[in-house]
Amino acid sequence: MNDKLKILKDINNICPDIFIRISEPLYKHTYIQTGGAADIFIQPKNIDDVQRIIQYSDENKIPFEILGYGSNVIIKDKGIRGIVINLNHLNKITIHKNEIMAESGASIIDVSRTALQFHLSGLEFACGIPGSVGGALIMNAGAYDGEISYVLKSAKVITLAGDILNLSDSDFQFGYRTSVFEKEKYKILEATFILEKSDPLLIREKMDTFRFLRKQKQPLEFPSCGSVFKRPPNQFAGKLISESGLQGMRIGGAEVSMKHAGFIVNVDHATSTDYLLLIRHIQETVNKKFDIQIDPEVKILGED
Ligand code: FAD
Repeated sequence: MNDKLKILKDINNICPDIFIRISEPLYKHTYIQTGGAADIFIQPKNIDDVQRIIQYSDENKIPFEILGYGSNVIIKDKGIRGIVINLNHLNKITIHKNEIMAESGASIIDVSRTALQFHLSGLEFACGIPGSVGGALIMNAGAYDGEISYVLKSAKVITLAGDILNLSDSDFQFGYRTSVFEKEKYKILEATFILEKSDPLLIREKMDTFRFLRKQKQPLEFPSCGSVFKRPPNQFAGKLISESGLQGMRIGGAEVSMKHAGFIVNVDHATSTDYLLLIRHIQETVNKKFDIQIDPEVKILGED
């Protein structure tokens, strides 16, 4: 039997009624609308199923990747071998006093809206970050005056072997766009945020300002994956790219945004190869001009 069909059958046996597809095109699941297919694409509805699938892939040596909302990834054009687990159906948000518990697939924007609804401050910065809770934790997402590390109280994760762990403050090892989740390859299942009671008018005002600034500075009218590069020490990647004369530079359908040099926008049916070639060209040009290495913030997944 074909490998993919065998995996499909095995998973259906261990997780009846699960959403599972063979050769699912991943351009449908990324913000930049590029990328090849996943051999197997699964959307579990509960943590038990996630655990069964991860234990199955561990026992059978089948690689797997987690995909959130796809707002910070470039998936190569040949796609992803093995299993892609998408946690978007695990999206419950619950509130207890000044704490919000959110499942990994909840939208971080929805979590920040919930905080506003319950007059809780601390997640205003996240009101325009278009990712999932899991994606936000992995890279310690941040904007303006805030980041995940300031508000995360605890997290439930699963290891590559399928063991579930409960982590708290002293475990997180947060840094600029990094965390223990990334270092240890933990997969996030739930997060609890601790927030402060505040005046809802002040919370709303802050959110409105952040959304206004975003609209003014970011090319939200085109598909993108946000800032492509990390900030090099004491520098801004966008400024270096702009001063290298790269704005408007295009490879295939991918273009360095004229509005924000840190963004690469899909202006005309770009492929992931277009994106990757443009990224390499930007890195080489900036390095030649300033002798500074700029590294991608965006995660590059899949096969060449
Ligand atoms: P994905 O893109 O799906 O995945 C990103 C990485 O996280 C992948 O390696 C994936 O395997 C991993 N991952 C996803 N979920 C899990 C999980 N549950 N467990 C383990 N690993 C997981 N980011 C900022 O920090 N600040 C900003 O202001 C910001 N602005 C943006 C603006 C725009 C217009 C866009 C398109 C993006 C922006 N981003 C910003 C980037 C992006 O939205 C964030 O990084 C977001 O947190 C990514 O979440 P996601 O669910 O889309 O992750």
